[in-house]
Amino acid sequence: MSIDGIYDQNNIFKKIIRGEAPAIKVYEDDKHLAFMDIFPESRGHTLVIPKVDSRNYLDLPADVIGEYMFVVQKVARAVCNALSPDGVRIMQYNGEEATQTVFHVHFHIVPCYRGIPLTAHAKGAASRAELEEIAARIRQHIS
Ligand code: AMP
Repeated sequence: MSIDGIYDQNNIFKKIIRGEAPAIKVYEDDKHLAFMDIFPESRGHTLVIPKVDSRNYLDLPADVIGEYMFVVQKVARAVCNALSPDGVRIMQYNGEEATQTVFHVHFHIVPCYRGIPLTAHAKGAASRAELEEIAARIRQHIS
């Protein structure tokens, strides 16, 4: 999939927005959703999406960016306050060549812990029980 293209109404994140696929949510409002990555690169790996149909950051309508970035920061702060990592990566990929695998725009919030390497991108599922426990902690810190 290249950077340009038609938005696929059946991509997995759109299905999550419509409630047709499950997600372990940590934050939702009328325009945004944040949920646990089921193939986490580290403990607490969280995804933040706008509900608008956009394949990537380049085709995101300019008027939604400000509020979306505010929500990314809000969720990143909650992740850090809940899990006390030593650092946090906030990342976003555009196009298959850039390792994007789901073509609905999203930011990754990946906590980094001293001495614990990140695991591979989009591989290795975490247990649902563990993700639920982490999500409950994060939800407690959403302001
Ligand atoms: P990217 O490769 O940047 O497009 O990231 C997509 C992310 O979505 C990867 O980190 C996957 O682990 C994650 N992912 C894929 N399917 C799901 C799902 N059903 N629920 C939560 N995260 C998912």
